[in-house]
Amino acid sequence: GNDANPGTETQPFATLARGQMAAAAGDTVLIRGGEYVYSGNLSVGVLFNKSGSANQHIKYWAYPGERPIFDFSGMNAQARLYGFRVQASWLHFRGLELHGVQQILTDQNESWCIRLESNASNNVFENLDLHHNEGPGLFIAAGSNNLVLNVDSHDNYDPDRNGENSDGFGCHSTGAGNVFRGCRAWWNSDDGFDFINSPGVCTVEYSWAFLNGYQPGTMTAAGNGAGIKAGGFGLDTGSFPATVPRHVVRFNVAFQNRSQGFYANHHPGGIDWIHNTAFNNGVNFNLLA
Ligand code: CA
Repeated sequence: GNDANPGTETQPFATLARGQMAAAAGDTVLIRGGEYVYSGNLSVGVLFNKSGSANQHIKYWAYPGERPIFDFSGMNAQARLYGFRVQASWLHFRGLELHGVQQILTDQNESWCIRLESNASNNVFENLDLHHNEGPGLFIAAGSNNLVLNVDSHDNYDPDRNGENSDGFGCHSTGAGNVFRGCRAWWNSDDGFDFINSPGVCTVEYSWAFLNGYQPGTMTAAGNGAGIKAGGFGLDTGSFPATVPRHVVRFNVAFQNRSQGFYANHHPGGIDWIHNTAFNNGVNFNLLA
């Protein structure tokens, strides 16, 4: 492709950034199979800052039957790095593989494979494979009503912080209504799913968490090691929000996580734990309030 092309099937653009520039609400940017390599002095792979509109998502979809792979492993700016940095709403990502975001600064926390911020809301992340990043797979810092559907996040590990920041999925937003459905988190060095200090209500359902809390591919202990960690405000009595969120954890399975399968993490006010299955975790259910 070439970004000077008209962006048709026979004369495609080269970059996703150019696709975003051309797209309007309701459009679909189809991404052909193959490798998209980001390297050098970059801190952001792709910045998404153009929104769709209500129920008119801008769609970034794999071309039918093909597999686009985004390789961020060559990015080396002296900063915390982002693979996809999402600051927009009403977007729909489908069928993409993202990997390799590095942790360049060794004295700060993790980088992110996908990070939602600036009230990024009403987005859909579907059928993605996020792996081998030195930070969380998908992290909602700010935004509401995002749906993370059938996404895998695995083998993420931040070695310079002993793995304590690489969760498969993190939801830490003031906005409510974020849902993880049909997702799988495994061999992440910290937790599979983590909702610590999220003032907004989060839901995880029909999902799997296993082998978290280890260095990927090994049984060597790394970070916290919860399959699904669904709370945490009770850890710091000075930081309670006015309304403590009641997160929803239902119809999930957690196994072989190093510390806990399901963990309330000192959460006050209760969490809905409904029909979850746990086995062979350090502790299967730790509902410490
Ligand atoms: Ca965590």
